[in-house]
Amino acid sequence: MSVKRCGECGGPVYTRIFRRWNSDGTVTGRLSSGVRICHIEAGEVCAMVEGISARIGYHIDRIVVEGERKASRNITNETLSPGHGLVGLVGRSWGGSPVSLKIILAISRSVGFGSPEVLKYIRGRELKLRVENPFCVPIVVGDLWGAFEALHRITADVSWEETPGAVKIDLVKVRDEMVEEHPDRLALQKMATLPGDVGFDRCPRCGIPREVTGSIEWDLDAGVVKNRKTGRREVTVMVEAVNAVISELTAELGDEIPGMVQQVEQEYIADMMKDSRLPNTISEYEALLEELRVMGMGNPVEVEKEGERLEVRVNNPFCEPLLAGRVGGYYEALEGVTPTMTWTPDEEGYTIIKANPS
Ligand SMILES: [Zn+2]
Repeated sequence: MSVKRCGECGGPVYTRIFRRWNSDGTVTGRLSSGVRICHIEAGEVCAMVEGISARIGYHIDRIVVEGERKASRNITNETLSPGHGLVGLVGRSWGGSPVSLKIILAISRSVGFGSPEVLKYIRGRELKLRVENPFCVPIVVGDLWGAFEALHRITADVSWEETPGAVKIDLVKVRDEMVEEHPDRLALQKMATLPGDVGFDRCPRCGIPREVTGSIEWDLDAGVVKNRKTGRREVTVMVEAVNAVISELTAELGDEIPGMVQQVEQEYIADMMKDSRLPNTISEYEALLEELRVMGMGNPVEVEKEGERLEVRVNNPFCEPLLAGRVGGYYEALEGVTPTMTWTPDEEGYTIIKANPS
């Protein structure tokens, strides 16, 4: 176990190797520069899949799998390309693929996706996995599907079967090269990033902020990450994957999807906070928004409250509808009123989120 963790703070070694907490409220990958990641409650992701399915009246698993697959494929492909550090070096070179597969599965455990076990692996042809404790089946399936395709530069078919507490995933190559059905849907945008001065109290040995190791508990064997304060499960996800899943849903189902995402998130946050009894002061809102930075969700720089109207500016937002839902959930918990939310799209590195009593 010792090699898996920092001797000073107990943070997992994969977290140190692959993640960097920045002063602008973002968290990025170290090896694949520019890949942005964030920390989120597993329940928030599950609520999004379940909540949208319930609202539209059918299960969106397949669309979620597809969105996650595309993002995972693109990001894994970029990480395995020449010039991308460790993973780039072992990537597709001699004997590289099995090593890369091991790294991919170890990362999967350290980000809290669950514990994958390889049942069968024929290099470049077939991969059968059993994942224990998957945090959200369609996301886990899409993630491993896309990674397998990128690892071997192939297009594969997937099938999966859920059992209590686990999922079995079968991946089989169907052709050479990665086929992109709707390349327009997945132009992974490089987000504009505004500078910031967020400071962290970092571990002198590995550099992971104390706020992270103090609040997060990793069970690397089970592939489960928990928040010590809330007791709830959390995961690290690729920001581009979150936005790719929402884009895929919007392309398939229509423009009302971002609004649904905001509403589902708002209900989730308000429900988690329903017994919190916090005062509805500006400093309370600021204290709640503080956690966005360590989660890698963005940098809240302005909070204004005039009467019952609340306005928040977040620089480098990870996902506008999810942030608007989060702020709406805080509002509902603190004011005792369900608000109407609006937000501006992130075009120059920020979003303005407004809550009005409805
Ligand atoms: Zn450390």
